[in-house]
Amino acid sequence: MNHTVLTGDRPTGPLHLGHYFGTLANRVRLQELHQMYVLVADYQVITDRDVPGRIQHNITELLLDYLAIGLDPAKVTIFQHSAVPELNQLLLPFLSLVSVAELKRNPTVKDEIAHSSQSAVSGLMFTYPVHQAADILFCKGTLVPVGKDQLPHVEVTRLVARRFNERYAPVFPLPEAMMGSAPLLKGLDGGKMSKSRGNAIALKATADETAALIRAARTDADRHITYDPERRPEVANLLMLAGLCLGRAPEEIAEEIGDGGAARLKRLLTEAVNEFLHPMRKLRSSLDAADAREVLTAGNARARERAVLTLEEVRQAMGF
Ligand code: ATP
Ligand code: MG
Repeated sequence: MNHTVLTGDRPTGPLHLGHYFGTLANRVRLQELHQMYVLVADYQVITDRDVPGRIQHNITELLLDYLAIGLDPAKVTIFQHSAVPELNQLLLPFLSLVSVAELKRNPTVKDEIAHSSQSAVSGLMFTYPVHQAADILFCKGTLVPVGKDQLPHVEVTRLVARRFNERYAPVFPLPEAMMGSAPLLKGLDGGKMSKSRGNAIALKATADETAALIRAARTDADRHITYDPERRPEVANLLMLAGLCLGRAPEEIAEEIGDGGAARLKRLLTEAVNEFLHPMRKLRSSLDAADAREVLTAGNARARERAVLTLEEVRQAMGF
């Protein structure tokens, strides 16, 4: 089947291993087979903070991460919210299709509110999943490679598409989520690995930074290493990460380490991560901000052409 793939990231910090095994690896694979859009979700940065911070810097860094992992701008349209007004305009009709009760039920939004540093919860925090529906539907996306936290949002998109089609005219496809080999990679503190939570191994970190981060990772008191995600989640997460980088089963790595304890596990993991990321880090060091700008300028223009067509279709269907 021929898909239109849409996915993206907030420019809130460098991409990490959770992104890689949750969604980036799938993107690199899918770009060879399907039409693909990758969104720099700049307007969604302000869902959980008052100001966008070092937004230009973060956008450039995100672009460099994309290029370093092997996204090919000749095959993929990479663009940003703030450059495509017609996409954002879809938010208005889409918001009319969902109830406040539905917005309040979203489990990912609840989790993000719990981790937000803001004293008051903004309206955007509750409505950004509908904005994501606009992200996915502006290009009539059918496949969305994401981590597990995004599943409720893809459900919102399907709801919006279904209701729009029923109320007005059959304009939108119902997109499917696609999860990666680690739909919810945990960070070094045991919580979801997140750019904003200080618990991530960034793809672009140096080998020494990576070693220091892993050395500080939480483990437990049992010296004998076993893979037991239920009872030993921290150790299991490190084993899984090593397994992903080495293409091996975590159980097998645990057995090999045995009485070597957490210190040996951490040494093995550090080596595995650094080796795995070496080619990406090397490619990244040969790129600069001008490369990033060029990719974004071209992608923004292409995305806007697409968004103009969809908005026109939506207006017509609604009788405007
Ligand atoms: P922030 O803390 O700023 O929200 P984030 O690390 O959650 O950053 P996002 O930009 O929100 O990253 O998410 C980008 C994509 O990466 C989404 O598809 C999301 O599901 C996926 N993703 C993020 N963190 C993980 C993780 N720990 N494991 C698997 N997938 C993840
Ligand atoms: Mg997030």
